[in-house]
Formats: sequence, structure tokens, C-alpha cells
Amino acid sequence: MSLEWIRQAQHAGIEQGAGSGDLLDCAMALAGVGAWCCDLADDTLHWTSGTYDLFGLPRGARIDRRDTLSMYGEESRATMERLRTDAIARCRPFTLDARIVRTDGAERWMRLTADVACNGRRPVRLYGLKQDITEDKARLETMRRIAEQDPLTGLANRQLFQSRFLDCAAPMTPLGALILFDIDGFKQINDRHGHAAGDACLESVADRLCAGFSDALMVARIGGDEFAVLTGPGSPDKPLQQRVERGLERLSMPIIWGDKLLRLSASAGIAETLDPHAFDAEALFAAADAALYAAKHAGRNRVHQAMPETPRAFLVKRAAHGSANRHRA
Ligand code: GH3
Ligand code: MG
Repeated sequence: MSLEWIRQAQHAGIEQGAGSGDLLDCAMALAGVGAWCCDLADDTLHWTSGTYDLFGLPRGARIDRRDTLSMYGEESRATMERLRTDAIARCRPFTLDARIVRTDGAERWMRLTADVACNGRRPVRLYGLKQDITEDKARLETMRRIAEQDPLTGLANRQLFQSRFLDCAAPMTPLGALILFDIDGFKQINDRHGHAAGDACLESVADRLCAGFSDALMVARIGGDEFAVLTGPGSPDKPLQQRVERGLERLSMPIIWGDKLLRLSASAGIAETLDPHAFDAEALFAAADAALYAAKHAGRNRVHQAMPETPRAFLVKRAAHGSANRHRA
């Protein structure tokens, strides 16, 4: 088997003619695409220019499969080897987005498309394309961040909180508690000092929550002045309520805004899971929300903890008050 075999594969679908292989090789490299094949008898690799470019290796250099494998990120390598073994065993194609680290340390993402060429029923070679998708991946990552991040505070937004917690059928990590925070009398801060001062307060609250709950699974801004903290199962010698009380003290420290010191406080509601691995996210949210409502109702600047048996009572109470303006006493 030789490069001729790859050329033939490259030529599929285009009219063959003198120099068309070189033209296709150059054009593919220009587009960040390279063809490759691997002889299964001895693991010999053949690459076109685009594949060399992708790996940052000099075009035409001798290549050893073990060397190229060592350039795969650990996770990508394990997935690729698994898919490759399966593809050879079943004579079927696969596609994988894989991370590679070039010898100069640069990280690239490539889309690997592979199929198995068989001689009768015997697989004889793997072949396919490798396409540089680093820029696409970065663009997607930026879009994902924008879609999931609150632009003012940089925290997770309501959408991410919803998808990772409320709508998540099977929790990925054990959950200890949900704590909801809502700033007290925040409208007045906006009214007295302006919207920009209010924004600065929201940013400070976000920073202070992140500092106070640095071990949290998630800190999210889920509403105008409402924040949610998801924690893992805590240690029994550190009651969560005390941590939240300390968090509220931290939130009530003055915020410097130009030549002014702004003061605010917040209320919090805690709902702890009975079983960190199996819980009803919506019920937990309702319980924390009800506890927050109770903290507001009791005078604000305090934390209330939902008892496992109380959420329904709170919900009935809330339903009687209606959901609008729910944190107003
Ligand atoms: P309570 O103690 O009952 O919570 O009273 P409150 O005044 O804090 O009332 P509430 O939580 O209902 O009000 C939230 C306010 O947050 C209403 C809105 O004007 C303000 N807000 C919402 N989003 C933003 C924002 O992005 N920036 C600023 N500056 N204000 C916001
Ligand atoms: Mg508020």
C-alpha cells in the first residue's frame, strides 16, 4: 500500500487528471483537512499534507503511530482507541472530535472520520479524514459560555441552573443542599443610588457568595437579585446554617461605590437533601423558596431552613399569598 491508495481515495468524486492529486492535497491542507490511512498489518501510517499540518509535523516526515498517539489528549486517546478497536471488529465507520497537543505545546481539536477497508471480510486498513476544528470549537465554547453565563456577574445564569439542576433527571454529583439568597430592599438601592450602583451591588454579592462558598457545586444568579448556591454533602461538624449566617454577614459588609458606602442585607432559605444521590429537585427548590419567603416574612436579613416535612405547609401558605411579589412581607 502506498500514498497512491490515498490519492485514489482523494480522487473519488472528482475528475482525474494530471496534477489533480497535488491540487487536492494543497486545497485540503488549505482548508485544514488531511487524509490518512493506516495499514492494519503493521500499523504503517500514510498522511497527506493537511494531516501533517494539523499535527505540526514537517510534511512527508516518517511517522510512527505510537508517536502520533502520544500527541492525543488522554481522554481523546482512550476514546479513539476504543472506537478504533470496535470499528475494526465490526467493520464500521466512526467519527470523533479529539484533542491533540502538538510537540510545540499548541492544543488543537480535530474531527477524525474513519472507516475500515476490508479484503473480503478481513479488515486491512483504516482510512479517513482529519479536519482541524479548533476555531469552530472555540466559537462554540464562546457561544455556550454566553448562553450559560450571567453577563453582569459572570455567574451561571438561570438557564444553566435550570438545565443542570431543576431539569436534570439524574444528578451527576451528590447534592447536599440548595440555598437561595435574595437581597433585601434592593429596589431602594436602585431608586436611591441609580441602576449602576445596583449593578455594582449585584457584582459584589456574586463575588462574596463565590468567596463564601468556594466549594459550591454551582453559584448562580437566577433572577434580578436572587442567587442560588448548590453545595455538596457537608460535614456534620460544620452546620450549613452557620455557614449561611456567616455568608449573610459577609454580604452585609459595606460596598464602596464611588465616594459612597452602600449597605445592603440579604435573606436566605436552605433546603437540604435527605439523600444526596436521590432527591426531587423541584421539591427542593420549592422548599428553599418557601424557607426564603419565611426569612423575608420574619423581618429579612436572616436565614431559614426548610424542615423536610414543612415544604408543603409553606407551599400552601405561598399559594394563599399568590406568587407575585412573593418575598415581600
Ligand atoms: P425584598 O426585600 O422583598 O426582596 O425587596 P426588593 O426591593 O429586593 O424586591 P425584589 O427582590 O422583588 O426586587 C428585585 C429588584 O431588582 C427589582 C429590579 O428593579 C431589580 N433588578 C433586577 N435586575 C436588575 C439588574 O440587573 N440590575 C439592577 N441594578 N437592578 C435589577
Ligand atoms: Mg430582593
